[in-house]
Amino acid sequence: MKMLKTILKNLASRKATRLYPKQKREPFANVRGELVNDIDRCIFCSACALKCPAKCIKVDREKRTWENDPSICIYCGICSAVCPTKCLYQKPEYRAPSAAKEYIKLKGAPKKS
Ligand code: SF4
Ligand code: SF4
Repeated sequence: MKMLKTILKNLASRKATRLYPKQKREPFANVRGELVNDIDRCIFCSACALKCPAKCIKVDREKRTWENDPSICIYCGICSAVCPTKCLYQKPEYRAPSAAKEYIKLKGAPKKS
């Protein structure tokens, strides 16, 4: 009898989960989502890499490359906060799920002499 009461209560109450991926929840306001680097504005200063607590950013000033491992990133937002040119920012949406491991490697345009 005790169990029946719980079953009826659960049947009448709103579902606690969504039918993902059919039903997606809108991200919360000010969500720290996918990390994006507009590489053309990057000055390869390494501030983001030095401050990253997860050590998932690598910058090579000579080769003008910027690398990030999103599987290690904890989406804290420190890197984008310290970026002097604000070329690094977080989209207000989550990175799409992926079955394969992704690694981001961006290369800037050659330096003008
Ligand atoms: S969001 Fe945080 S963990 Fe991710 S790359 Fe930036 S500083 Fe590192
Ligand atoms: S802090 Fe900004 S400008 Fe500096 S290397 Fe990182 S992304 Fe580029």
